Amino acid sequence: MKKVDLKRYAYLITKVGANVQKGQEVTVHANLDQEELANYVVEYCYKLGAKLVTVEWISDKLTKTQYKKASVKALSEFPTWKEEKQKHINATLPAVIFIESSDPNALKGVNQKKVSEVHRNMIAKVKPYRDARENKYQWTIAGAASKAWAKKVFPGVSTSKAVSMLWDAIMKTSRCTDDPIKAWEDHEKDLEKRTSYLNSLNLDYLHYESKNGTNFKVWLNDKALWLAGGETIRETGVSFNPNIPTEECFTSPIAGKAEGIVYSSKPLSYNGELIENFSIRFEGGKAVEVKAEKGQHLLEEMIHMDEGACKLGEVALVPFDSPINNTGILFFNTLYDENAACHLALGIGFNNCIKDFEKYSNEEIKKMGVNDSGIHVDFMIGSKDLNITGYTRDGKQVPIFRNGNWAF
Ligand code: ZN
Repeated sequence: MKKVDLKRYAYLITKVGANVQKGQEVTVHANLDQEELANYVVEYCYKLGAKLVTVEWISDKLTKTQYKKASVKALSEFPTWKEEKQKHINATLPAVIFIESSDPNALKGVNQKKVSEVHRNMIAKVKPYRDARENKYQWTIAGAASKAWAKKVFPGVSTSKAVSMLWDAIMKTSRCTDDPIKAWEDHEKDLEKRTSYLNSLNLDYLHYESKNGTNFKVWLNDKALWLAGGETIRETGVSFNPNIPTEECFTSPIAGKAEGIVYSSKPLSYNGELIENFSIRFEGGKAVEVKAEKGQHLLEEMIHMDEGACKLGEVALVPFDSPINNTGILFFNTLYDENAACHLALGIGFNNCIKDFEKYSNEEIKKMGVNDSGIHVDFMIGSKDLNITGYTRDGKQVPIFRNGNWAF
């Protein structure tokens, strides 16, 4: 990867992604293999006026060793300093940048029950703090090509070739062109047009049908808002883009109202392992039956993670002809794959998908049907022949998707 390209990417991440503000603190999470990019990101944060940038390093290898050697109890401890750290984050609200380069199979061979248990324990402890800072700070996730990830995506070529191919794909799909700021402005305008049309329809429910067997209905709240691309923090007026790239128009459905079956159209990387060729059947809004050719136990554990893990938190529309899908690459990473296909997410929904959400308490919004859970896992169901029909509250049928793409 050329220095100049990495720098431009770092600028995109800090400016369009996190939109770092003068005097603000920033936390950067990155894998050890991304020192060069992380350093450029830190430099740009300071150029944009950050007061202090803290980097938290991640190592797939060390995470695996920890899971293998330490007990669930030890890994689930939440000592005072960790609690204080959460309090400090909520008091200072730093912008958060995640540079994602993990091996999709990072935790292969680790007892998944153990990973799930630790995950569940830690989520329960951190969740109250996370809930308290939701929609109050900027955050963004962007990818970076590591050797292990690149080899998974391009197994047939040399490691260095695979890394450079993955970098190319990342830059292209992230719209990291010569002028990424302009490219993102244009893209956001297009997304805005789509969400305002969807919001004008006042949809009651969506009906999905595909030849692969998908036949599924999901109901929407009458205050539900379709969102896309950037978000704006009400208190500060600062806009940011949580995902680089982003192609989806999404909302949070009513957690207890979905019926029928959906078939996956891409593998799902979950807790460092892959779940492949699976279906989920919903009854009364709950996933009541799951079948997977690979990763059955993982999928079952996922939907039983907590009370809300079997219900939907997100419905997202992405055309089959999206720039990401058109690369023909399966990324084995949700950030990219979710932006290549229509998807649903099990787990927590988004409070800001309710109109005027600031006027309500978290409890009130959950009562309106926005799902609550410690997890949020996207899984892809978009296919070439997917049809989605919207049923409006005044009884009209509106084509939303035809043959995998936007019908409007
Ligand atoms: Zn999504």
